[in-house]
Amino acid sequence: MLVYKFGGASVKSAEGIRNIVKIVETVDDKLFIVVSAMGKTTNALETVLDFFMKADRRAAIAKLNEIKDYHCGIIAELFSDSASVVNEISSVFNEISELLITCVGDDYDRWYDRLVSFGEIISTKIVSAYLQQSGVANQWLDMRQILITDSNFREANVRMDESLRKLNEFADFSANRIYVGQGFIGSNLKGDATTLGREGSDYTAAVAGNLLDAESVTIWKDVPGILNADPRIFPDTVHIPELSYQDAVELAYSGAQIIHPKTIKPLENKQIPLYVRPFSTPNQAGSVIKKSIEKPINVPVLIVRKNQVLVTLRPRDFSFVLENCLSEVFLILNKNRVKVSLIQSSAISVSVSVENNRYLNAALDELANDFKVSYNENLELLTIRGITDEIIKTATAERTILLSQYTRRSARFLMKMLE
Ligand code: ASP
Ligand code: MG
Repeated sequence: MLVYKFGGASVKSAEGIRNIVKIVETVDDKLFIVVSAMGKTTNALETVLDFFMKADRRAAIAKLNEIKDYHCGIIAELFSDSASVVNEISSVFNEISELLITCVGDDYDRWYDRLVSFGEIISTKIVSAYLQQSGVANQWLDMRQILITDSNFREANVRMDESLRKLNEFADFSANRIYVGQGFIGSNLKGDATTLGREGSDYTAAVAGNLLDAESVTIWKDVPGILNADPRIFPDTVHIPELSYQDAVELAYSGAQIIHPKTIKPLENKQIPLYVRPFSTPNQAGSVIKKSIEKPINVPVLIVRKNQVLVTLRPRDFSFVLENCLSEVFLILNKNRVKVSLIQSSAISVSVSVENNRYLNAALDELANDFKVSYNENLELLTIRGITDEIIKTATAERTILLSQYTRRSARFLMKMLE
């Protein structure tokens, strides 16, 4: 049993979907295919949602029609006889329009999951139908019926036992060798749609791998594998052929975009290797993440996390007790889903670097009851693993460093571009 995951970039065009067929055709094993929404569809659906929340129905429907046109364009390129798939897709779009017209957007997070999850429903319907047309028999699955999660909308966690029961109920690999399901989406026990967090399709693939006791999970990406840095930011990147689960977790939590941080645990629990392979050159090996590796990483690794805000808090009553302060600060940040990427405390203050999100202002307002709050926006957090003076010098050039932290092998810099 294999699990293959194709991300948004792989399915953004007719050409990408044709390439999926080529890759899948080479597999004789049982195969579970996880697919993301096409291209930038998730962002586009977020825009629909924003209009809907502002009760601007006309703009919401107009944006939805753009999304529909984009998908219909791809369908027209792919299918010799597109009538039945166009019908199917149209009925999904009608369902969305109906919601936009008849409902009122109250709870943002809940509505996010209900609406944005349609991106994956649509992409998988197209991919499944195209595989079928190309002679690759497969069965489409609605992961909202299978992946059971908690009700933490927009960042739901999978309940493994319930999901396993559902998966066994809906997927029978002795009847169908290939199943196609959506990444990123599921539902809570009541049946409300949930999503697993942006870029969460990797997490779905890992969960599926775990539940199916897969031999391996492969994430097909538009990169040659895992690199020691983001090639869009740093020149001269080096390919890393092997990583341990621990390396991967460390890199993912430092903000490496290559894999979603939640992906590793379900795989590590069952010692399932995770391959990251290049979608457009499938003959290349890519990278593998597994338990024991032969060659430890011997190049410096650089990870940049953008959109950071440095928040500094000083207690209003001058009674600085670190434990009390920290617990209050984290409680408030956590409640507002603000993710902390770095902490530093001094004799009279606590500083945290956090990722900017839609609830950050609410968190800062609440913190202002007990703390003097100051903050600095638009920062980037650079993590370097395997430091040398030379690397630090080049990677921090043309930046002001607001805060730095060192351990023996690693360093982190919160920095701002020089103006
Ligand atoms: N479509 C979702 C996103 O763009 C999930 C994913 O691609 O993994 O975040
Ligand atoms: Mg994606």
